[in-house]
Amino acid sequence: MEPDIVTIWTYHDYVKAEMAKIQLEAAEIPCFISGDNAIATNWYYSIFSEIELCVKFCDAQKAIEILKNPEPLEDVESDEHGPIELCPYCGGEDVELQKISRTVFFLSVLILRMPLPFPSKKHRCLNCYRTWRLKSE
Ligand SMILES: [Zn+2]
Repeated sequence: MEPDIVTIWTYHDYVKAEMAKIQLEAAEIPCFISGDNAIATNWYYSIFSEIELCVKFCDAQKAIEILKNPEPLEDVESDEHGPIELCPYCGGEDVELQKISRTVFFLSVLILRMPLPFPSKKHRCLNCYRTWRLKSE
């Protein structure tokens, strides 16, 4: 039997998950985010967990296509750093810009018991999870 609800995407970033949800809702695909309650109340908790974007099984394929081929709405995020950066290691296109150093963030939570956002300009490949510095800056 096919499952009724499937997870089509996982995120570490609550804002990204919300943006994807808005995108699917705009395409009239019912969806919900799971695992966001703890993150909403403990935002630094998001670094340790994943947020799942779920849709009905029958909508999954269409939803994935929408998320892989974002409408211009998505450009809000990418025009900040120009053309799409490709991963120099695996050539993957799923690259995110890390504005906050996750290492410093993680250590500050451990040592100081509070998050200490430390600016960082690094790209991280969501395919092979390697990071590298921006070429242009
Ligand atoms: Zn890569």
